[in-house]
Amino acid sequence: MSLNRLASMLLKGALGLGCLGIALPARADSAQTQTRVVTRLAEGIYAIRHVDPLPGWVHGNTTVIIGTREVLVVDACQTLEAAREDIAQIQQWTKLPVRYLVNSHWHGDHWEGNQAYVEAYPGLATLAHRDTAELMTQAGPVMKRDALKDAQALIERSTQALASGTKRDGSPLNEAERRRVEQQAAQGRAMVVQLNAFQPQRPTLTFSEGLTLDLGGREVQVFHPGRGNTAGDVVVFVPKERILAAGDLIVQPVPYTFDGYPSEWIRTLERLVALDPAVIVPGHGDVLRDTGYVLRLRDLLQTVVSQVRAAFGESLQPDLEALRKTVDAKAFKEQLLAADPGDAPFFDYALKELIALAYHEAKAR
Ligand SMILES: [Zn+2]
Repeated sequence: MSLNRLASMLLKGALGLGCLGIALPARADSAQTQTRVVTRLAEGIYAIRHVDPLPGWVHGNTTVIIGTREVLVVDACQTLEAAREDIAQIQQWTKLPVRYLVNSHWHGDHWEGNQAYVEAYPGLATLAHRDTAELMTQAGPVMKRDALKDAQALIERSTQALASGTKRDGSPLNEAERRRVEQQAAQGRAMVVQLNAFQPQRPTLTFSEGLTLDLGGREVQVFHPGRGNTAGDVVVFVPKERILAAGDLIVQPVPYTFDGYPSEWIRTLERLVALDPAVIVPGHGDVLRDTGYVLRLRDLLQTVVSQVRAAFGESLQPDLEALRKTVDAKAFKEQLLAADPGDAPFFDYALKELIALAYHEAKAR
């Protein structure tokens, strides 16, 4: 699939992170985060989860790695406001400059806050895979347009609800609902201000394989472990502490399988497991302390890819809708639901999209 094709698919909303939750059930922690959580992973290494900027919008997790000379940050959030909050937090941890900002992939929730770092740290280098840089160029203006549209629609809906004192079904807003709608209207207005100030900041240093950096007493490996979630996925690994920032190659508890390269993703995850990470910062969701989830995710991808390929073995042109009803992903779903049955609708959506991905991949073989 060409980069153009991938970008246009995503921007039409196949992934459309901006659309997550607005049209979808968004119970899973990977699709809805209400609380900012900072986790200290080791001396001078932190993970930050962010409060969603709007209903249905998400920020990628941010990882901060501090050496004795300089600092590296992985992923810069969706908005300048959230990135600036992270920068204020980093400046409490250290007076050292952020010298490197890594964008794990091109989705806006991982790089649209780049500008805040560029403004705060004039010597900054922004690192990404070369395909990511290309996709950002194509996606930036479209993402801004779509985000503005969503934010303005939210403001309109909220204003109408507050003026009429009723919900869309005509029933009256109670006090808690009214406060929530007021909060959403304020979030929408803040988002419009942010988006109008947004200037895409592309990576300044791109690569196809990877590089090793010394932050001063701390080695950090930045590399492309293979394709998975996007064409230019990059992970960051601190070998001494065995800490891995994985971007959206790993998202939990429900993976973002809305686009990407499912059969390659399996091998890419195996490469990450081979690093033997002790701590994994996923692109969204809580920090993982072992590779159990990664293996379950690998198995999910494997079983879907295998079942879809088997259908192509039996028929020249299997029916996608029929496959969506028959592909069995019980093992993953049972474990997910044991933790929180409310995640089922979001998982069902992600699975439906994954089956379509595997279908188009198998068809192209
Ligand atoms: Zn993301």
